[in-house]
Amino acid sequence: MVRDALRQYARSIGFSEWKGIAYGDIDGYTVTLAQGGATDVFTGRSSGAYNIWVNVYFPRDENYVKLMTRIKDVRRTYSVLDQYRYPHGIRINLGGSLTKFRAFIAWLMPLIAEYDGQTISKCPLCGQAYTAQDERVYARLQGMAVPAHPPCIDQAAINREIEAQEDKQVGRGALGAVLGAFLGSLPWIISYLAGFFIWVFGFMIGIGATIGYKQAGGKPCGKKYGIILLCVVFFSAFSFFASIISAVAIDIFAGDLQGGLWGNVTALLRDEAFFSREMQRAMIGFICSLAGCVHLIGEIRQEFSSREMIVRLP
Ligand SMILES: [Zn+2]
Repeated sequence: MVRDALRQYARSIGFSEWKGIAYGDIDGYTVTLAQGGATDVFTGRSSGAYNIWVNVYFPRDENYVKLMTRIKDVRRTYSVLDQYRYPHGIRINLGGSLTKFRAFIAWLMPLIAEYDGQTISKCPLCGQAYTAQDERVYARLQGMAVPAHPPCIDQAAINREIEAQEDKQVGRGALGAVLGAFLGSLPWIISYLAGFFIWVFGFMIGIGATIGYKQAGGKPCGKKYGIILLCVVFFSAFSFFASIISAVAIDIFAGDLQGGLWGNVTALLRDEAFFSREMQRAMIGFICSLAGCVHLIGEIRQEFSSREMIVRLP
């Protein structure tokens, strides 16, 4: 996001603006500026904070380390929150005012040159070094503007489209997720029937859905996470009801209960003490089943950041 004050500043130094980032060159380095929205949605740390990306690499690693130490030394002065390294640059988040941010940029840029920071001399998409004749335009790569070959950006966009068409694999993945979540719900139901319900078995539902999706050949994409979440919710509820219904059925079969299956089940579920006790246990099982999908968060982050990879900036 670029709010008014940052926009004014970005314009004053000749930067362009595109969908939430301002970018241009400072001292020969490609620099990207943004606010809040472009930062980490999962840590949520830098909402409203300022971000600067510099497209740079350090031929000598110790120079990079020295620069990072210098930045750490001024953490308080400029309200530095985080610093990150990318194959094609660095990113620093600041939590202070725009005035501080500007002062930080003025402090940082000469320092990068002093530590022998090089402008990226190869296209980040094809890895080829630029020749004198090569045309370079800006692309957005992991949130930051970087120069790249126009044909490479176009090719990357085509690859993206092909990947999008492969979303058809989602149907197969969904079947796998349903089957996996079903198999994953069995330990829950069996342990319940055995009389020692272990809520941590809920974990298996999340794991089952995730593995099932992948094993069936489903591709990672936005829909995948929705499908897995639906499976987890549905099969947690399924486990809850299937456990109770099966337990009642077994009791009827063993002659311990009189009357029909449905009558007995509805009577049990209407029993407030029974229902709230079972519901509490099931909720813990449900939380465990969600925990079974936690490892997907990393994948989701990657998915969303790679989506931005191939945008050609105006
Ligand atoms: Zn290229």
